[in-house]
Amino acid sequence: MKCVGIIGGGQLASMMGNAAQKLGIDLMIQTPNSFDPAVEIATGTIFAEVDDVTATENLANYCDLITFENEFINLKALEPLEQRGVIFYPSLKSLAPLLDKYEQRCYHRDLGLPIPRFKALEKEKNFTSDWGFPVVVKVRRHGYDGQGTFIVKNQADLESIGTKFSTDLLLLEEFIPFERELATIACRNIEGEIAIYPVVETYQEQQVCQKVIAPADISEDVKSQVENIAHRLLGDSWIGVMGIELFLTSENQVLVNEIAPRTHNSGHYTIDACNISQFEMHLRAVTDLPLITPKLKSPQAVMINLLGYEYSESDYEEKLQLLREIPQAYLHWYGKTPSRPGRKLGHITVLSEDSSEGLSQDLLEITKKIEYIWYGN
Ligand code: ADP
Repeated sequence: MKCVGIIGGGQLASMMGNAAQKLGIDLMIQTPNSFDPAVEIATGTIFAEVDDVTATENLANYCDLITFENEFINLKALEPLEQRGVIFYPSLKSLAPLLDKYEQRCYHRDLGLPIPRFKALEKEKNFTSDWGFPVVVKVRRHGYDGQGTFIVKNQADLESIGTKFSTDLLLLEEFIPFERELATIACRNIEGEIAIYPVVETYQEQQVCQKVIAPADISEDVKSQVENIAHRLLGDSWIGVMGIELFLTSENQVLVNEIAPRTHNSGHYTIDACNISQFEMHLRAVTDLPLITPKLKSPQAVMINLLGYEYSESDYEEKLQLLREIPQAYLHWYGKTPSRPGRKLGHITVLSEDSSEGLSQDLLEITKKIEYIWYGN
């Protein structure tokens, strides 16, 4: 039996549990807290911060290979482990250009991918927008779920953000007045087989993903732009799953927003709505198993994030009971406490058998109902 180590023990690691069981794989995790979601499903846990390299060295003693649940790792410190034969998938070399948002933009540019204009912001040197306003400022590392992404309307706001963060850690990006946001999950295994999931449409509010509709209602041309981007990003050495977030402009041009070097929220619908989940696909890729062509099981599906909307220790049992009663709905509750605004506490996926063009009316209604149960008015 193979043992896979995962650095990180949040919901993404936890959702690997079922796939690991199905494939006969043991999962060992490295995560700081005993109440982190993946502790329950793991064969064993090393309790340590995700960037604690001594803990990772220990983890490696139990595992055939190590993979990642998040990108908040200390890459430089992991390098000596890789040199001593510890296997990381994706490799540290593949991860290197993706951990810092500015470096990731440089990497996209060097690959010739379509992206917004960007620059590194340096205080007292270039703390101005070259493209007017609004512009987008992003914290270069450790930002997630929109925390660390700011749409800035004027020079005064730009400067006030500058005073909050240290100089060399900000990225300035042209604001893209996109029509829609798209995403896909792409995967490459050790043999070099590639699998690309359907393109989905994602809906963000305050820079946080609220829901995902699969498949996106897009033209063949847009689909092939996305697939082309995915192939170039996977290249000939990536191993595992990556989440690709994209903008679609009014001229039907696809631009790359961001790459997540791991499984991604925009792919959670795959657990219930596809023949193979992004979690199983990732485990297959890193354990040298053949990939499976991903397909939707129903014509349409929606995945709605259950985001925290208050500070609370509640288990939300009443609301969860109402959500469980919705037909064709699959509820995933991560068991994270406490709740705080914007925290991802769970998600729910609903499948629709409606194969007519455009977003199915029943999915729209069920989505409204779920949002009402969860958020009230
Ligand atoms: P995070 O890594 O925290 O998810 P992202 O960089 O993906 O942050 O940005 C979150 C959201 O902010 C995007 O989904 C999009 O809605 C908005 N956004 C990010 N960059 C831009 C941009 N250049 N132009 C317009 N909107 C943007």
